[in-house]
Amino acid sequence: MSQHWDVIVVGMGAMGSAALWHLARRGARVLGIEQFSRGHDRGSSHGGSRIIRFAYFEHCDYVPLLRRSDVLWNEIEERSGAKLVHRCGVLYGGARASEVIAGVKHSSRLHGIAIESIDPAQIGNRFPAFTKCAEPIAEFLFEPNAGFVRPERAICAMLDDAQRNGAIIREGEIVEEWQERGEYVEVTAGGATHLARELVLCPGAWTPELARAIDVPLINTRQVIGWITPRHKSRGESQVMPAFFIERENGVPMYGVPMASDQGTPSGIKVGFHGGGEKCSADSIDRVVRLDEVKAIEAAFARAAPEVAGEVTASSVCMYTNTPDGHFVIDRMPGCQRTSIACGFCGHGFKFAPVVGEILADFAMNGRTDLPADFLRRKRFDQD
Ligand SMILES: Cc1cc2nc3c(=O)[nH]c(=O)nc-3n(C[C@H](O)[C@H](O)[C@H](O)COP(=O)(O)OP(=O)(O)OC[C@H]3O[C@@H](n4cnc5c(N)ncnc54)[C@H](O)[C@@H]3O)c2cc1C
Repeated sequence: MSQHWDVIVVGMGAMGSAALWHLARRGARVLGIEQFSRGHDRGSSHGGSRIIRFAYFEHCDYVPLLRRSDVLWNEIEERSGAKLVHRCGVLYGGARASEVIAGVKHSSRLHGIAIESIDPAQIGNRFPAFTKCAEPIAEFLFEPNAGFVRPERAICAMLDDAQRNGAIIREGEIVEEWQERGEYVEVTAGGATHLARELVLCPGAWTPELARAIDVPLINTRQVIGWITPRHKSRGESQVMPAFFIERENGVPMYGVPMASDQGTPSGIKVGFHGGGEKCSADSIDRVVRLDEVKAIEAAFARAAPEVAGEVTASSVCMYTNTPDGHFVIDRMPGCQRTSIACGFCGHGFKFAPVVGEILADFAMNGRTDLPADFLRRKRFDQD
């Protein structure tokens, strides 16, 4: 039996939950479909924390989107009553001319974002965790308004609020097929066919399976994260230790998130490497963390933050979905009239989820958006 919806959103991860949230609050009759359950640990949005920051070294055009996202994060917190965002600051470290240090300074100057430069010789006075940091760091920068967000809790907050506003969510159902047919898009999932005026696809690492027509060469990579139980626990807590993003001698930066009282399990300082990672596919990824991977995290963290070094007591595997240029794709689907897509978040997308959802809701309701996201359209990959 088929039902008629204004919009169907596929994938209730970070971006799809946010799209559903906006659409439901605008009064659309909206259906969300997720193959697993909300807040699951098989995609790209699990692991207890995601760094949020504003002096964006990746591209300064992201900053207006980050500012809008920040307003929306506050709104989601207020509406849900849940603590989602921690503003413990983010510490960047690296060479002066590096992408991170030069990029953070450029973005902060251009957009008037407060950052503070810290001499590596003085870092221990400010953040004891990084005393005797052995990475060759010429400059530390501290962004006080940055911090981290709780991803699983944020997704649940958006979905709960979407449901309060009339959205229907079907969990445990795989979308097998979708097709535009004249006035409608037909979506097949869990043995049922659903019809909608508009379709929004947010399949994360499953984009190659569900939305090949996007025609962007996406590569999924396997990312390992570890939780370190520090020797000096009090120095690893968010009141005294910021989140961090540090360049390393081997070129693969390391990031981390401090402990906080609302962390739950796993507990500890969360540490991972940004980039690298073996190629994988979403359904056949190896989810078992190897001993050498655990040891690499312990050793890298001990070099950067010897005062809080310790053992990895929990670990997990997650996925990045990478585009060729490291930037997202948010657009209407090529060759389609009624379908939009957000994919390729390259390991830095979570902080944008609320504004990505808003852009997708604009596409679905108005066919366009006024938000400054044109630089993320897929046409940049077209050959001349
Ligand atoms: C280890 C790690 C650390 C990261 N750190 C940060 C950070 O500090 N800051 C930051 O901003 N970002 C960070 N990111 C990136 C960020 O988490 C991702 O960019 C973001 O979560 C991607 O969201 P998504 O909605 O595209 O994918 P997902 O959240 O994975 O959602 C996709 C959803 O679609 C569902 N789905 C797929 N196909 C189907 C189908 N056929 N039928 C039904 N459902 C389907 C999936 O089950 C999944 O739930 C990190 C990522 C990783 C892996």
